[in-house]
Amino acid sequence: MGDLANTRNIGIMAHIDAGKTTVSERILYYAGKTYKMGEVHEGTAVMDYMEEEQKRGITITSAATKCPWKGAEINLIDTPGHIDFTAEVERSLRVLDGAVAVFDGSEGVQAQSETVWRQGQKYGLPCLCFINKMDKIGADFEMSLRSIHEKLLANPVAMQIPMGAGDSFAGIIDLVSMQAVFYETDKMGASFREMEIPADLVDQAKRYRARMLEQAAEYDDALMDAFVNDEPVLPETIHGAVRKGTLAGTLHPVFVGSALRYIGVQRLLDGVIAYLPSPIDKPALIGHKGGDESQEVPVKCDPKASLVALAFKITSDAHGDLSFLRIYQGTLKSGTRVLNVNRNVKENITRVFEMHASERKILETASAGDIVAVVGLRQTLTGDTICDSKKPVMLPSITFPQTVITMS
Ligand code: GDP
Repeated sequence: MGDLANTRNIGIMAHIDAGKTTVSERILYYAGKTYKMGEVHEGTAVMDYMEEEQKRGITITSAATKCPWKGAEINLIDTPGHIDFTAEVERSLRVLDGAVAVFDGSEGVQAQSETVWRQGQKYGLPCLCFINKMDKIGADFEMSLRSIHEKLLANPVAMQIPMGAGDSFAGIIDLVSMQAVFYETDKMGASFREMEIPADLVDQAKRYRARMLEQAAEYDDALMDAFVNDEPVLPETIHGAVRKGTLAGTLHPVFVGSALRYIGVQRLLDGVIAYLPSPIDKPALIGHKGGDESQEVPVKCDPKASLVALAFKITSDAHGDLSFLRIYQGTLKSGTRVLNVNRNVKENITRVFEMHASERKILETASAGDIVAVVGLRQTLTGDTICDSKKPVMLPSITFPQTVITMS
């Protein structure tokens, strides 16, 4: 069992081609799980392990994978981005605690990003933004920021700004530390140097920092006082205020980079840990005792309470059916008998796995807050609640829209 406060269950949402697969690849790479770079255009991306996906070059299924990062654990749930798979996006979003929205820096917000964003908002999902492809000709940070504000009606707060764009994109300026980070990319990834902000960018960085402080100050009175009186503020104070706004779902920290060139993804991961919620930060879910709608019971992220888990994805491979579960409450051991409340059948969980793309590690136990894959569930379908047979609880059902809502 990991440390719950240091666990992040996140997904990446994006318009097709914005770079979701490449960002996921880089996360796996930095998490030390993959040492060989699999480029998307070569069809070897680690997350795209289904043959179908490799052929079509789009992610149509949800793989879950655990990525350690600086002492924390990020469970990366691969949400499908293609519009035809909206129901599956919804299903995946339901089990996330937070998300990263990836945008193509030369396009800003595109149609599918709007749809997925709104689905996320429906679940009150705290969300960071990553403006990707800053190395692409036509990349425009300010335009992308504005489109997040105008098209998504969101409140983006730039935590960084890019140094240059297109061919001259060299790195980022961190607006909290006011340090410039220059990158050099080679075939093995990127190395970076922290330096002073170049003289010609100082004014621009100061303007963006002032804007960032003003937005963050809405969430912290002491920060507001310091901002109004032009007094120095500690990085922790800024991080605390931004985290508060992000958890409330009303502030969206913006990171920038180029996944292709390995720029900015590590900082994005720092942002995931700093600003997105852990499973214990989330309010208790309201379940129903034994599936009876009139009897509400809170489902808390407590490993000691009775088991309540949601099956959110069923896949098959050479070894048989694999069910992906989000454990909301209690502890799950391999070799236990559980109840599927929706179908009123008892099922056996024979094995519990931690997943890394198509690989798996056997676990003895997994607890509240974890996302795992299990073997043994024969009658369980996506959306079913799995629980302790002595204390049956049904989680609120997931409703899938049959048609995609078009946004104006
Ligand atoms: P997805 O459809 O959102 O999963 O996007 P992919 O990760 O498959 O990327 C789509 C295309 O954009 C691929 O050809 C990538 O190599 C390319 N790409 C991804 N990130 C970047 C980036 O930061 N800069 C540039 N120039 N291209 C990128």
